[in-house]
Amino acid sequence: MAGIYVHIPFCRQACHYCNFYFTTSPGNKDKFIDALLHEIELSKDYLQGEKIETLYFGGGTPSLLPKAELIAIVEKLNSQYDLSGLKEFTLEANPDDLSPEKIKELAELRSLGLNRFSIGVQSFFDDDLKYMNRAHNSAEATSSLKRVQDAGFENITIDLIYGTPTMNNQRWQKNLEIAFALGIPHISSYALTVEPKTSLDRKIKKGERIAVSEEQSAVQFNMLMEEMQKAGYEQYEISNFAKPGKYAIHNSNYWRGKKYLGLGPSAHSYNIVSRKWNVANNISYIQSIAEGIIPAEVEVLTPAQQVNERIMTALRTMWGLDLKGFEPRVADLIKQDLSVIEPTHFILHQNVLTLTNQGRLFADAIAASLFVTEEQFL
Ligand code: SF4
Repeated sequence: MAGIYVHIPFCRQACHYCNFYFTTSPGNKDKFIDALLHEIELSKDYLQGEKIETLYFGGGTPSLLPKAELIAIVEKLNSQYDLSGLKEFTLEANPDDLSPEKIKELAELRSLGLNRFSIGVQSFFDDDLKYMNRAHNSAEATSSLKRVQDAGFENITIDLIYGTPTMNNQRWQKNLEIAFALGIPHISSYALTVEPKTSLDRKIKKGERIAVSEEQSAVQFNMLMEEMQKAGYEQYEISNFAKPGKYAIHNSNYWRGKKYLGLGPSAHSYNIVSRKWNVANNISYIQSIAEGIIPAEVEVLTPAQQVNERIMTALRTMWGLDLKGFEPRVADLIKQDLSVIEPTHFILHQNVLTLTNQGRLFADAIAASLFVTEEQFL
């Protein structure tokens, strides 16, 4: 079973921290939809006939598309792939899009399998939302969630951002309490990061925005882990928390190394032996697809890269890295490298390696120190 990700590259307003590919000008939207439908046909063999377990419409802001366009995309997918075993279909939505009329429209997609919303709340406080230049306000954040719940969608995840300079620890605590009180079963939470060349990066450099503090983020990440645990959420991935059994199937499959196909500009795909990523530009995407060519760069993974990919993703999850899944000599190489890791940062039990709460703060660095090299494979 595999997953399909569809990237809808349009947003109402540019959030200052964002480094996803999107545009705020909808001029090419019709051409984009045509190109996307065509790409679905062109890539029908990428997953080699595997059944599709999950669909994820992300972006950008998929909730900006009218119902008819969303239906056209799902129907095209249905004509090219086997969706008969579809378990999870997630649509990303922003609070400002989720008017009562829009929710009614989206509820009609239930018959096509839509059963999960990922809502970009980020914060329940106006100061934080303004700092990030989000298009919604705190009242919309809460009311949109209630409306989605009232429409009968229980399977909801929200994004929350910590480390925003406008948010002290007390407010972070309050943000979490509001999410808990609303009965949200899944929360993804990320530190505000200042990516190069984003609007936030430029504004901080010009002194128009307060800089982000790594210390504040580390403190608030610890608070996040503790509060989630107290509220009965499992930290099943570094940035993802769920009530028992409410894990995101689509994302969990990424971390378990399952195959996925990404459609649309900037979308990434992975089929164990290679990964590819589409051009992050609407016009180039539309032009290339019109010529029957998917504009993607492909990287064939060496055996060492395949192992490292596994280390990187599995260590971020509560299920950890199962060394029994590797050839014995590869498992031995990884175990040898554990000698350089702080002993309080990991647990090795029955050949499964997991990170402790302390270790999770350094997950990427720990993974990198366990990477195997090409030479070790010779
Ligand atoms: S809505 Fe999402 S994709 Fe669009 S600019 Fe904001 S963060 Fe980026």
